[in-house]
Amino acid sequence: MEKGESTRSVHAAMDPEQVTGSVQPPIFQTSTYVQEDFSVHKGYEYARSQNPTREALEKAMAELESPNSPATGICFSSGMAAITAVSQLLSSGDHIIACDDLYGGTVRLFDQVLSRYGIETTYSKLSPGDLEKVAQQNTKVLWLESPTNPLLSIHDIKKLASQAKARGWIVVVDNTFASPVLQRPLDLGADIVLHSTTKYIGGHSDVVGGCVIIRDEQLIERLKFLQNAAGAIPGPFDCFLTLRGIRTLALRMERHCDNAEEITERLTKRAEVTRILYPGLPSHPNHHVAASQMRRFGGMISIELEGGEMAARKFAAALKLFLTAESLGGVESLINHPWTMTHAAIPEQQRRDAGMTPGLVRLSVGIEDVEDLWNDIVQALQISSQ
Ligand SMILES: *Cc1c(COP(=O)(O)O)cnc(C)c1O
Repeated sequence: MEKGESTRSVHAAMDPEQVTGSVQPPIFQTSTYVQEDFSVHKGYEYARSQNPTREALEKAMAELESPNSPATGICFSSGMAAITAVSQLLSSGDHIIACDDLYGGTVRLFDQVLSRYGIETTYSKLSPGDLEKVAQQNTKVLWLESPTNPLLSIHDIKKLASQAKARGWIVVVDNTFASPVLQRPLDLGADIVLHSTTKYIGGHSDVVGGCVIIRDEQLIERLKFLQNAAGAIPGPFDCFLTLRGIRTLALRMERHCDNAEEITERLTKRAEVTRILYPGLPSHPNHHVAASQMRRFGGMISIELEGGEMAARKFAAALKLFLTAESLGGVESLINHPWTMTHAAIPEQQRRDAGMTPGLVRLSVGIEDVEDLWNDIVQALQISSQ
């Protein structure tokens, strides 16, 4: 029987180290390894290619995303480095289809970097029937986020993955917002799952990293090759910090979800708030899909205030516990203004088409006591509506 989320988070890749029995993997802070003779070694040659601390993190990520079926994790120095490596599977002339509400840095990479190498991207709402309309002869990849950033849209991963795979495309799911505790896209048909481990996986806003998790042997070989050939590897200390974060991942996710559910429920009764985007609300247009593919609905909420951008600015300035900052998924609560912060790199029309507005704020609900967070929100709403 599959063990529970907390047990799996605590025990993922926990193999006591051979020499001392150290329960947690040591930080192997080395750039190279001694060889007995030319090319006679213990499997470790050079630390870009192999590092035991990184391997422990990679194994843990694979176990979390794919507990019932063998998979491989491959780690990178940032989420963007992981995304770059996946994009390097493509060649000039290839085409990507992506959902239209996508992490700003991913859009920037696709539109400003990959475009220079002759790789084209089409953004789509991916409503029923859309895939046929945007499909091209040269399409190679379907790129999904669910829940999306910052609009918390939900895509039906199983349905879209089966349609894409029928056409021979690679299905990539950026699972950063859900974490493997809430959603496992490989079980829903994705080929490649990726994370910015900077967010919920690390969970303490003290390390930047990325990871891809794959079951397909061919894709594993190609991505491992790219990890070494392009070289955007994480350092051993960063891997240690990220693995340390994983030990409490399930515990933290439960609290993030408890707090976010309670806060959205209370926000629905506030006149100052005109729009609440949270997949856990029955009023969310794809709530039933979220309920079928996620264990719970996560810690991210986006809201629009009655007073638009001015009110959003006053609200953020008045909050005391929610810090104004980029990023998400840490133990502390954060507020972000996607229009001018995380998504500013996306052209304005593209932001509007996706449904973003200057009055939208995104909350990353932390693991503080919910009454304290709520009191903070209420006093800030009162100030912002004056
Ligand atoms: C933050 C983020 C990224 C980029 O990751 P970095 O670690 O910042 O490079 C990619 N996708 C999503 C959904 C993110 O939130």
